[in-house]
Amino acid sequence: MIYNFVDEGLKSEIINLRRVFHKKPEEGWCEFYTTYQIVQYLKKLNCTVYYGHNFLKPGERLGLCSDEDFKVSAQRAQKQGVPEEFIKDVTNGFTGAAAVFKFKNPGPVCVFRFDIDGLKVEESTDKEHKPFSDGFVSENNGFSHACGHDGHIAAGLALCSILSKESENLKGEIRVIFQPAEEGCRGASAVNESGFINGANYVFGGHIGISTVKTGELAAITDGFLATTKLDMVFKGKSAHAANSPHLGKNAMLAAAQFVLASSAIPRFGDKITSVNTGIFNSGTGRNIIPDRAYLKTETRGSDSESNTYVCDEVIRRAKGAADMYGCEVEINTVGTACSFKSDFELCRKAEKIYSQMSKGAALLEKSFTASEDFTNIAVYAEKNGAKCAYFTFGSNLAGPHHSSNFDFDEETLFIETEFMARTAFDILRN
Ligand SMILES: [Zn+2]
Repeated sequence: MIYNFVDEGLKSEIINLRRVFHKKPEEGWCEFYTTYQIVQYLKKLNCTVYYGHNFLKPGERLGLCSDEDFKVSAQRAQKQGVPEEFIKDVTNGFTGAAAVFKFKNPGPVCVFRFDIDGLKVEESTDKEHKPFSDGFVSENNGFSHACGHDGHIAAGLALCSILSKESENLKGEIRVIFQPAEEGCRGASAVNESGFINGANYVFGGHIGISTVKTGELAAITDGFLATTKLDMVFKGKSAHAANSPHLGKNAMLAAAQFVLASSAIPRFGDKITSVNTGIFNSGTGRNIIPDRAYLKTETRGSDSESNTYVCDEVIRRAKGAADMYGCEVEINTVGTACSFKSDFELCRKAEKIYSQMSKGAALLEKSFTASEDFTNIAVYAEKNGAKCAYFTFGSNLAGPHHSSNFDFDEETLFIETEFMARTAFDILRN
């Protein structure tokens, strides 16, 4: 690998940053410590920093946390040194930040998007697990960076550091977005509403790892993003004594159970991928009580928006039908969405050229993502406004699969990601 921008000093800074964020994973919309550290870093650079209500607008912010989650996360962040005033600025759905570099000479507008949230996955404390044996395992019980977004933040900040130093050699404008709440496809719509995507000519996103792509490999043409809809449902019935007066109750648990079975029997879409899953089902307060509430978290997916809409409509029909069968009602809220998306072909070709210059002989792959990514919401919005967009998969040797307790990636991938993104910026905006 040939590094023009990522020198030895920046390499150790990248590793250090990654580990700082790895130790303090926070779930989407509760990235208080994470946002604070990002903002502190960016403030030292040659750019304008936006966060809190200057970054996001109080419009569409999907799947916000519960008041209790906000409170607990805020208390934890405060104990970890985040000032109370800062938390007030970013709580209730205003986490994340943007760094805007406006260069002297006019030119195109480039957006780079990095996601920053962790997951509700307890991290492994097995001695084989590198973050544990090397002393940077998660300090936030029950949470971990099991998808590599800690690495995305480190690469994003390192890119900002390069742009700051190289401002004389660049033209136009670069906006680096640190997006909250990617997991569950919740935060991107808010970024669209923020206005930071408007006027962009190019928008780039990417991910570390993803299945079989190894360190040093780049999937410059990434497609196969699944469109998805995340639904929270509450089945509402009526409680009653289970033996003495069950006929006076309306059993929300049975209605919800009926829905789960019925939704699993939605016919597949003839020639496209579709799926539906209910992953959380909570109901009931006691063995002798007819349950009056059932809380479900369900998702639908499709290889394009049409097939996803089909499954989603069928899910809603079955939820209403099942509720009706038991004299219950159902409240359904959409808490996350993503679209199908194809990277711009011309940009992918450009990426291949850039990558082959820095990585003599490294494999360039075409890769189907076969999952969903919040970035697609930004990309589709940007394309409608005339931008060209591309998404890259940065190969990494993984210790365990994404979203698992022993997930870990090869830190060299971060140097490659940073160098590649910096070269891409220069390819488009060199003065
Ligand atoms: Zn991820």
